[in-house]
Amino acid sequence: MTTVAFIGLGNMGLPMAKNLLKAGMHVQGFDLAETARAGLVTAGGSASAAVADAVVGADIVISMLPSGKIVSAVYEGEDGVFANAEKGALFIDSSTIDVATSRDISAKAKELGFDMVDAPVSGGVGGAAAGTLAFMVGGSKDAFKRAEPVLDPMGAKIVHCGDSGTGQAAKACNNMLLAISMIGVSEAFNLGRSLGLDDQVFFDVASNASGQCWSLTTYCPVPGPVPTSPANNDYKPGFATALMLKDLNLAMAAAGETATDTPLGKLSRDIYTAMDSAGHGGTDFSGVINYLAKGK
Ligand code: NAD
Repeated sequence: MTTVAFIGLGNMGLPMAKNLLKAGMHVQGFDLAETARAGLVTAGGSASAAVADAVVGADIVISMLPSGKIVSAVYEGEDGVFANAEKGALFIDSSTIDVATSRDISAKAKELGFDMVDAPVSGGVGGAAAGTLAFMVGGSKDAFKRAEPVLDPMGAKIVHCGDSGTGQAAKACNNMLLAISMIGVSEAFNLGRSLGLDDQVFFDVASNASGQCWSLTTYCPVPGPVPTSPANNDYKPGFATALMLKDLNLAMAAAGETATDTPLGKLSRDIYTAMDSAGHGGTDFSGVINYLAKGK
C-alpha cells in the first residue's frame, strides 16, 4: 500500500487527502491546526505530531501550504522533510508559490537525491472535494511519471508543463490572463449598460463573436446568462478576490525577476489590490464588475 505524508490539511489539503484515502492509500498528515489533523483522523487517516514524524515510512510527501516561505521552512532544517524523509521518497508541492522558490526547493531536493515536482492546482475547494482538480506539473519526465498515479485520484487533468517551476509558471500565467480577461469582460458589460444594451443581448452577440472567452461564457460576471456563475449567487466565491490577488502578486514577481513587460497584468493587479483594500477580498473576483461600475 502506498503511504502518503500530507503536510497542510486546510481548505484544499484535507479534501485532497480524503480522495487519496478513498483510493486506498494510507495517509499520515500534519497541520499546525489541531482541527485539521482531527479532520484527517475522522476520514480514516492518521495524524502526526510534526513534519518529521509524518514523513517516516512515506513513499510520497505532498505539501499544500499557504506560501513559498512556509514551504521552504517545511522542507528545510533539521525537523523538515529533507532531513527526515525516507530514501527514494517523491516530493510533490501542490501549494501555489513563486517560481523562484519552487525552483530553489526542487534543486535542493535533487542535490540530496530526491525527485520533486511542483504541482499547483486550479479548480478550487469544489474541485478538491470532487477529485477534479487540474494539476500543472513541473519536474523531470521520470518524476512526473512517478507523481501521476498519486495525483490521479485528486484530479481530472494532469499536465506535464516541463522542468521544475514550469507548473508554477503555467498557473501564474493562466491566472494573470484570467484576471485581465475578467476585467475586459466586465468593462464591456458596463459600457454596454451605459449605452442601453441589454446584458443577455450582449452576451448572445459576444459569446458567438470574437469577444468569446471563458470569463464571458463560463464565469459570466453579470447575473442571468450563465446560471452557474457566482454573479447569480451574490458574488460568493468561487474564487475569492484575495486569492486572485495572491496569484497576481506571484505573476508580477515573476515578471519582475525575468524583466518581462506585462502592463495589463500590472494594471489588473492594481485594480484587484484596490478592490481588496476596499473590503471586497472575500467577494468572488468576478465582482470586479461592480467595483469598476461604482468605483468602490
Ligand atoms: P488554507 O489556509 O485553508 O490551508 C493551509 C493550511 O496549511 C492550514 O490548515 C495551515 O494550518 C497549514 N499550515 C500553515 N503552516 C504550516 C506549517 N508550517 N506546517 C503545517 N501546516 C501548516 O489554504 P488553502 O485554501 O488550502 O490553500 C493551500 C494552497 O493551495 C495555497 O498555496 C493556495 O494558494 C492554493 N490554492 C487554493 C485554492 C482555493 O480555492 N482555496 C485554489 C487553488 C490553489
